[in-house]
Amino acid sequence: MPVLSLEKVNFNYGSDFALLDINLLIPEKGFLALIGPNGSGKTTLLQIMSGLLTPKSGTVRLGDDRVGDLGARELAKRVAVISSEQYFEFPFPVEEVVSMGRFPHLGRLQRFARHDWEVVDRSLQMTQTTHLRNRPISQLSSGERQRVLIARTIAQETPFLMLDEPNAHLDINHQIAVFRLLQELNRDHDMSIIVVLHDLTAAAAFSQTVALLDRGKLVTVGPPHEVITTKNIRTVYGADVVVHPSPEGGFPQVTYSGN
Ligand code: ADP
Ligand code: MG
Repeated sequence: MPVLSLEKVNFNYGSDFALLDINLLIPEKGFLALIGPNGSGKTTLLQIMSGLLTPKSGTVRLGDDRVGDLGARELAKRVAVISSEQYFEFPFPVEEVVSMGRFPHLGRLQRFARHDWEVVDRSLQMTQTTHLRNRPISQLSSGERQRVLIARTIAQETPFLMLDEPNAHLDINHQIAVFRLLQELNRDHDMSIIVVLHDLTAAAAFSQTVALLDRGKLVTVGPPHEVITTKNIRTVYGADVVVHPSPEGGFPQVTYSGN
């Protein structure tokens, strides 16, 4: 049984852009990278998959349940989302931000129990942010903030995690740290993961399955070496690139030449 399934999903904002007839299955413990040019609909599709947007037609299911039938609290127990630009204007301490991940599990007016604090501590440890716990989130670097947001989703204890360009503002070292963490959550903690990426080599290196979007349509879905090909990338991105298999891991690498 897939953890997430989309069947004939259509969506538009009332502008020219539309998501057209999207069919997609995410298996349990799947790790899917969603790629495509700017404006191809990646963020829109992620929002539909996480229940933030409602499709005009078609169905989105989490397991057996239609996403639209789940209340906000139930949805938050099953899917955690990190959107691409999450700003914190208010200087919440890191510990408080991570604690917010427990809210869907608490009853009204229910206080934190020992278990909730244990989960928060573990989430901070797993993301190596324990030393930041009293710092205001508004004062952290992008890499630190991204790890704290992931800590919050770990604390949310959902089987499913969706992230929109989590590597957007990170240097290579922090990008790798974030991807390794996602892999660990996927492999050792059985989480299913969908991640929107603009970095094709990272998509190839870290995911099991890649879905390629072009102007609102899913062009192809499959293992990295079948999707990230010279032909596909040139056709969809219109970019003059060459894709070749990596010497070590065997995943495709995208290169381009300067002058
Ligand atoms: P991507 O994440 O792949 O860059 P998006 O899903 O953000 O693409 O956007 C797809 C298209 O939908 C773009 O043309 C964008 O301008 C448009 N769009 C995105 N959000 C809205 C909105 N809230 N209202 C109207 N159009 C939108
Ligand atoms: Mg986007």
